[in-house]
Amino acid sequence: MIVFKYIHDISHYLHSLQQQGKKTGFVPTMGALHQGHISLIESAHTKCDIVISSIFVNPTQFNDPGDFDKYPITIEKDIDMLEKAGCDVLFLPSVKEMYPEGLTDGKQYELGYLELVLDGAYRPGHFQGVCRVVEKLLRIVHPDKMLLGQKDYQQCMVLAKMVETERLKTIIIICPTKREADGLAMSSRNVRLTNAFRTKAPLIYQCLQSIKKEIKPGDISHVKQQAIEKLVAAGFKPDYIEVANAQTLELLHTWDGKTALVALAAVFAGEVRLIDNLVF
Ligand code: AMP
Repeated sequence: MIVFKYIHDISHYLHSLQQQGKKTGFVPTMGALHQGHISLIESAHTKCDIVISSIFVNPTQFNDPGDFDKYPITIEKDIDMLEKAGCDVLFLPSVKEMYPEGLTDGKQYELGYLELVLDGAYRPGHFQGVCRVVEKLLRIVHPDKMLLGQKDYQQCMVLAKMVETERLKTIIIICPTKREADGLAMSSRNVRLTNAFRTKAPLIYQCLQSIKKEIKPGDISHVKQQAIEKLVAAGFKPDYIEVANAQTLELLHTWDGKTALVALAAVFAGEVRLIDNLVF
């Protein structure tokens, strides 16, 4: 695996590969890698000739500075995992390399409704920062495909919108959420859970599964409410438990029995904010 720190060098290298007709797959990450990230690398391998990943803890997407400061960094282990997974190229830029213009006053993306609901509402500016960094990365790497995890369902929709409005040529591929044996969605933040919350954390996915099982056409507020009550009783602090149209993310209070749905959760487990979702 070749590691690049500078835009000039990686651009030059990838350009020559792309000139030879190699198809490239890109997996952007913030590091602290786990099997969820590695599953994206493996999927990229089956679809592309060259697999590129990036590790960059993007300061502009953290609405909570404490969360940024505490974001786990395990760079040596990450490099080892990527190498073992057969990643060909790693981009490891500094903040200065990615944001020579400074962190504030970035470009504003028109995200419409997607920025008003769920994590858009609870994490002001978060998706603007995500779009800003991913647009930069895509303009450096020019991949044929970008692989994203369904774990970040709203982020997938936001990035699809950004790619479309910025007329980028990259095709987005969404890969399934990898889970621990007990059902907890893998996340870089899981290592920050206390032992007590780590033991209880599978309840989040169990609540999403209960919503899927119990939902019936008509009013659906009670199934959401039951999930919130279970989580609060176990000591979690939910930002939201919602059911939305899986295509548009429109939040639903009633269900026609036909529309494809996604149940989404954002829950504080102590100081750690966890998200998960289930499509059905
Ligand atoms: P992150 O490093 O958290 O920014 O995530 C980088 C990419 O990995 C994003 O596309 C995430 O959606 C994806 N990802 C994170 N966790 C998982 C998981 N448990 N399963 C599959 N993909 C994931």
